[in-house]
Amino acid sequence: MNLRYRTFELKLKDPFTISRGSLESKKIIYVEIDEGIGEVSPSSYYGENEGTVKAVLDILKDELLDDPLDIEAILEKVNSKIGGNFSAKAGIDLALHDLIGKKMNLPVHKLLGIKKKEIVTSYTIGLDTIKRMQEKVKEAKGFQVYKVKVGVANDLKMIEAIREVTDAKIRLDANCGWSTKEAIKKLKVLEQFDIELIEQPIPPGNLEDLRMIRENTDIPVFVDEWMMTSKDIPQYKGIADGINIKLMKCGGIREALKMIHVARACNLKIMIGCMIESSVGIAAGAQLAPLVDYLDLDGNLLVSNDPYSGLKLKEGKWILNDFPGLGLKKVK
Ligand code: MG
Repeated sequence: MNLRYRTFELKLKDPFTISRGSLESKKIIYVEIDEGIGEVSPSSYYGENEGTVKAVLDILKDELLDDPLDIEAILEKVNSKIGGNFSAKAGIDLALHDLIGKKMNLPVHKLLGIKKKEIVTSYTIGLDTIKRMQEKVKEAKGFQVYKVKVGVANDLKMIEAIREVTDAKIRLDANCGWSTKEAIKKLKVLEQFDIELIEQPIPPGNLEDLRMIRENTDIPVFVDEWMMTSKDIPQYKGIADGINIKLMKCGGIREALKMIHVARACNLKIMIGCMIESSVGIAAGAQLAPLVDYLDLDGNLLVSNDPYSGLKLKEGKWILNDFPGLGLKKVK
């Protein structure tokens, strides 16, 4: 099989700010294996960037076998050749799934035995002035859930102000921005605003503190940062309420499926999230949506120059199509 890649710069409609930093555009890498397409959205937080991804793809392109249906053997080879670098590996995994789907004339979700279901996605409101965050909620009409970034000094006021302008569900993501004490104090106050869940209140690594936070609030606590692959899941059994799976953190559809099964065995709820991605990455995540509890697949909605289309959004729900592979079309 022949692997090619190309860089593309996604432009954000609004600068995207979280407690760890801000972005105005995002370089992603499209990976093509024969007629299959995948996407890599590398994150420097996890040690990847355009350069590392290209270097990894240059090495791994010689590890592909002849038949994409040997995907388990291919990914085993890929993993034994290079550790980590999960977003680069996700590009290969996604392109292989798209290719297999096209060869078999089946959408990826069908190939995986997953029955199509519409699932509500949240729409992310990045950090900004309180007034601008209220405006962003009003502008993004039609969503049933907003995921609001917190983890800064004035976030209680921020959520109070957002609750004033919407009756929709609100979930929160602190992106490690709170201390343990702050998290316990703030979550107690936030309970009155009908919050669906909180993602990564404190930096990862301190399980006892996370357990304490969870015991002190009614708001379900999810982990995201450094929740990479299936082997990271069991330690959170009984300590968190759920996990956030991202294809770019775990290495693709194959590993995400494994994570779903491990999380269920550990009694953890499951969210599928994303990075800033185009429709290629988002369509790949959506193939697994019917198996999970929460979707946060909105990366493509935050950019102004998505070169692909595939999924349809209806009343804040993603609708999978029946086209082969990831079901994508190039935007003319
Ligand atoms: Mg998160």
